[in-house]
Amino acid sequence: MKIIHDLNEIYAQIDFVRRDAKRIGLVPTMGALHAGHLSLVQRAKQDGEIAVATIFVNPTQFGPKDDLAKYPRTLDSDLTALREQGCDIVFVPPSDRIYSGSHSTFVEPPSVARRWEGELRPGHFRGVATIVLKLFQLIPAHVAYFGRKDYQQVAVIQAMVDDLNLPIRIEACETVREPDGLAMSSRNRYLSKEDRVRAVGLWRALSLAQRRLDAGENTRASLEAAMRAELEKAPVDSIDYAAIVHPGSMEPVEVVEESAIAIIAARVGSTRLIDNMTIMAKEVQRMERTE
Ligand code: AMP
Repeated sequence: MKIIHDLNEIYAQIDFVRRDAKRIGLVPTMGALHAGHLSLVQRAKQDGEIAVATIFVNPTQFGPKDDLAKYPRTLDSDLTALREQGCDIVFVPPSDRIYSGSHSTFVEPPSVARRWEGELRPGHFRGVATIVLKLFQLIPAHVAYFGRKDYQQVAVIQAMVDDLNLPIRIEACETVREPDGLAMSSRNRYLSKEDRVRAVGLWRALSLAQRRLDAGENTRASLEAAMRAELEKAPVDSIDYAAIVHPGSMEPVEVVEESAIAIIAARVGSTRLIDNMTIMAKEVQRMERTE
């Protein structure tokens, strides 16, 4: 596994690989890797790509209230895990080479960034879109793999790729969960033992939305109320949102006819957690099974 820090070197290396007619799969991360991140590398390898992971804690996507300095940094164990996963190249750029002192160009995020995380974390998606575009420039890959765990993030990146005609395919990969349903996240390490028990409330609330839909309850009002009640039962400490949204626009849907995305952001102790689930009407589930 090649570990590259230099920007000219990564570009040259990717150019070299592409000349060999090899396909490149990019996996952008901020490190503190867990099985969810590694599943993206695994997917790139399964698809027959040269897997290129990046590790960069992107300062521009952190707000003043988010603690950039506290973000976990575990480079040595990250590199070991990537090597074990068969990752081919890891790019770990120095921060001052990505953002020079005079850096002033940013991507204006697409409209799907407006609500939810975009509203609660002003500037977050501007930072995400900017770093992802930079990485796409430095590492002209054929495919980039992202986790559905960050559903709105994938929607923002897909819209940016479409709007700016970027020559790359975006693959959204399933969320990897702990055995009890909690979505894996770098932030889970901050949960105390007691928080960890309550954190599974997000998964329970999402699963309940699907069960209620199965039982014929398909209005936004009733599904959202059910999710909130389940979150309060956990109990989580506060709820930022618990909503039923359209899979493409992420605008709230009043009635779930076929499918929708249930999304939650809640705080457990001092840790903010997000999760989501695609919920489907019974007929759609049946059709998916027979396809
Ligand atoms: P991060 O390092 O948190 O920016 O995440 C890097 C990539 O890993 C993003 O595309 C995330 O959506 C993805 N990811 C994070 N957690 C999971 C998970 N539990 N399952 C699948 N992908 C994930």
